[in-house]
Amino acid sequence: MSSSKKYMSKRILVTSALPYANGPLHLGHLAGAYLPADLYVRYKRLTGADILYICGSDEHGVPITIAADKEGVSPQDIVDRYHTMIKDVFAEVGISFDYYGRTSSPVHYEVSSEIFKNLHDKGVFKKKTESQLFDPEAGKFLADRYVKGTCPKCGNTEAYGDQCEKCGTSLSPAELIDPRSMLTGAKPEHRETEHWYLPLGDLQPEIEAWLNTRENWKPNVMGQCKSWLSGGLNDRAVTRD
Ligand SMILES: [Zn+2]
Repeated sequence: MSSSKKYMSKRILVTSALPYANGPLHLGHLAGAYLPADLYVRYKRLTGADILYICGSDEHGVPITIAADKEGVSPQDIVDRYHTMIKDVFAEVGISFDYYGRTSSPVHYEVSSEIFKNLHDKGVFKKKTESQLFDPEAGKFLADRYVKGTCPKCGNTEAYGDQCEKCGTSLSPAELIDPRSMLTGAKPEHRETEHWYLPLGDLQPEIEAWLNTRENWKPNVMGQCKSWLSGGLNDRAVTRD
């Protein structure tokens, strides 16, 4: 096989961070995540490379349900509006995705379910019961962004359950002083709930070995990955209330 044929047979997949369908794109998004990837993809296409540039709107997650609660509309209304807006902006700016989808599409559910079922059949998940914050007035468990309180590090009274935006500290809802529910303002209670976890720590040796075979990664990306590993990987929750 000639070297050019060898090169042609290499398939390249490019993706950029999925934008959350909870607000419009701004110039910072375009310059940071999409324009550099688009330049790379366009260059590779010119050289005849077998390359695909795939992206889509992320239509699940707390930022979307919070935006819906704020406007008094359904999460579906929010994602339909912003997915359309974001997709149109990408088209107008000329970002040359081969495919721009949305995480609510049937194929996304099929692939996610397949990965989940495969891991479940192999008995990979661990079940753990733990205490989480619960809003007694709303009758709901509160995910991180649904809780605000005082940051234990800097005293900011508007810290979120996952992060204090004033001092940048990562938090868990249980660390907040005087926590309050974003839904009703009620003082949350601790209640026991069962969740399933992916035991990432068990996979650490394999992940480390794989990482050491990577070439040409940017030093800051490699540094970030290595810092997660050096801190030890924790079990990762794959279910939510
Ligand atoms: Zn803080």
